[in-house]
Amino acid sequence: MQLTFQPFELQLKHPFTIAKFSRTSTPLMLLQLRFEGYTGYGEASMVPYMGESQQSATDFLNKVDVWQFKYPFDFAGIVHYLDSIAPGNPAIKAAIDIALHDLEGKIKQQPCWQLLGSDPAKMPVTSFTVGIDKPEILVEKLMGAKDCKVIKMKLGRDCDKELIKTIRSVTKAPLYVDANQGWTDLQQSLDMTCWLQEQGVVLIEQPMLKTDPDSNAWLTERSPIPIIGDEAVQRLPDVERAKGVYHGINVKLMKSGGMYEAHQMILKAKELGLKVLIGCMSETSCATLAAAALAPQCDWADLDGPLLTSNNPFKIPEFSNGKWVLGEETGLGIKMKN
Ligand code: MG
Repeated sequence: MQLTFQPFELQLKHPFTIAKFSRTSTPLMLLQLRFEGYTGYGEASMVPYMGESQQSATDFLNKVDVWQFKYPFDFAGIVHYLDSIAPGNPAIKAAIDIALHDLEGKIKQQPCWQLLGSDPAKMPVTSFTVGIDKPEILVEKLMGAKDCKVIKMKLGRDCDKELIKTIRSVTKAPLYVDANQGWTDLQQSLDMTCWLQEQGVVLIEQPMLKTDPDSNAWLTERSPIPIIGDEAVQRLPDVERAKGVYHGINVKLMKSGGMYEAHQMILKAKELGLKVLIGCMSETSCATLAAAALAPQCDWADLDGPLLTSNNPFKIPEFSNGKWVLGEETGLGIKMKN
């Protein structure tokens, strides 16, 4: 087994603004694991608020002993091994786990979605995220997203209702909204939730602080539409804690440490009666295909990374009727640009 890796700066088509910050690019670490003539591809997307960087990823990778990855891969054991190197670092752990899944699929000559038990016919539509912006820019972004069947809107500022009205002037598509912990007042949050339902919003992500389960639970109990925990739900033990606080969870590979644990989180959520949204960070086709392999097991998908970025080093996967199309290629199905 041989490991190589390269830092990469993924450029966004538009500056991305949410409740707490704005940015124009995202640092990545792309990696390759080579084994018996096969190459597995992995990716870490390190959005600043998660605390990882290309330097921390390099430091982590320099501590990884690739001889620990013996085929057939014991993914639970590998998660345990990576956690023993250092806590945290979920994105770079995900990059390794994704590359190992890609390798496993290639060695077994099967697509990853098949190995994970997903049914491509159950692929949910993916939402297209628009950040906070001036109305004319919002309209321009929405015009460029005609293929998308669902719009996801970032909220959490004073102008939330105007933003929704702007979107409604352009499209009647269902909306997901993400407050990114930006709401504070209970009654105002409930009033807003009811108003959003009237506007065709079908779910709300992380309305209040991740550290305030009581307020989130209060809203969940009363909300007419599902309330989804995102920042509050990172890894497997958080799923149990989400029960009674949220209607569902947002699973992301860059939080869970990769595909293996994301799959365990989905299974656990189902067991507990929680809904599942599978989400992403700013990602290339690599991490998007990894999440898409699990998406048919989820209720909703928000996997728009390749639609929002401008220098994806891989080919953009097939996208049809608002959904990623899972192909018959072995592994993740990543295609190189010519
Ligand atoms: Mg979110």
